[in-house]
Amino acid sequence: MLLSLPAPPVIAEPSGSNPKRFDQVGWHRERTLLVPIRRGAFLRFRKGRGRCPLERIHNFNPGPAALPLEVLRQAQRQLIDYRHGGMSIMEMSHRSSDVERLFEETGQLLLKLLGLDASYTVLTMGGGASMQFAMLPLNAKESGKAGGYVVSGSFSEKAYQEARFVGDATVLASSKNANWRTLPAVDDLPLDPAMAYVHMTTNNTIEGSQFRHFPDTGAVPLIGDMTSDMLSRVIDYRRFAMCYASAQKNLGPAGVTVAVVRKDLLDVFAKVRQLPSILRYSTYAQHKSMYNTPPVHAVYMMKLVLEWTERQGGIAAIEQENRRKAELIYGVIDQSDGFYDGLIAKSDRSMMNMTWRMADEAMEKRFVLESEANGFDGLAGHRSVGGIRASAYNAVPYTACKALAEFMLDFRQRNG
Ligand SMILES: *Cc1c(COP(=O)(O)O)cnc(C)c1O
Repeated sequence: MLLSLPAPPVIAEPSGSNPKRFDQVGWHRERTLLVPIRRGAFLRFRKGRGRCPLERIHNFNPGPAALPLEVLRQAQRQLIDYRHGGMSIMEMSHRSSDVERLFEETGQLLLKLLGLDASYTVLTMGGGASMQFAMLPLNAKESGKAGGYVVSGSFSEKAYQEARFVGDATVLASSKNANWRTLPAVDDLPLDPAMAYVHMTTNNTIEGSQFRHFPDTGAVPLIGDMTSDMLSRVIDYRRFAMCYASAQKNLGPAGVTVAVVRKDLLDVFAKVRQLPSILRYSTYAQHKSMYNTPPVHAVYMMKLVLEWTERQGGIAAIEQENRRKAELIYGVIDQSDGFYDGLIAKSDRSMMNMTWRMADEAMEKRFVLESEANGFDGLAGHRSVGGIRASAYNAVPYTACKALAEFMLDFRQRNG
């Protein structure tokens, strides 16, 4: 099968003293030439695709995650000269009109995509979703009221623990005893009208579950950590008084976090006094998210992703595509006679993060290794859960999911 090829590349181990030669160059499925560059990593050359058609990998990473190729190319073109200003956006003052406009337009576009009007404000900040876990109870604390938490996975539990650290917090519903394999019921939460807010995680990134409906919390503000599913599906975002997301799943690269806050809630937060300025939501609102130096480049990338989302036809079109992608993978799982064993109850499965187990850890390990040799990345489950997780965020194309479904069928045939 091997053609006459140059010798395999000889490269040094990263730590290494002696140059080492790994395995051999070989064909995968007679279609793709694999050239090992280090253990577990190959260059791929497709047959009949002309010279050096080095491909991008099928990226199923949970976050930071895939970005649309179109967006990366756009950023590449503008990298050293943003809007003919003779410098990169990364080199610009955040007090310049270009950057001010960038922030303004980014916020407007996000509201538009989410179907929200001017009764909401978009705040951008650093610190990730994890900082929101702390900031939210800190800003609510002086009201003297407790935050209520729906605990459905490890991120929502982290949010709850941070709130407990700050002050008063209660669990309204939890599926911890079910090992997060199902979602807790949210129809009959023991709500107290005097609660500061109800917090929930709309998509549980690590476990792979996703809420399809949301509690009616009446006058109590509902707050959603939507880090791993904002923009991925049509929901009535107006049901949330605030939703937040760090960017590295669906919105862009890591470095920026958005909090979309209804203005009446912002008014409540504005009364807080016992809190350093940098931790107050009202500071970000007053200074248009530029109280101090903001993550300008991350916001710029997010804007490109938002524009891309709009070009795809907005959230509705994206959701349809996400549904097709998830059906492919879950289809393979459900027709595998238990070879692939879905972690989450069917009715609660996530379209973003699909999780399953296999016969044993050795098999799972082999699945991951072989997937890497076949051009996939990021499929190992979270270290706290194990198993396999395929994260198919908005920017992961249908073709990548198709390739994964085919690989799963093939793997099962060889190992089932
Ligand atoms: C990734 C993630 C987080 C943590 O985000 P950081 O930006 O790393 O702090 C929190 N919640 C959810 C739902 C996530 O997916």
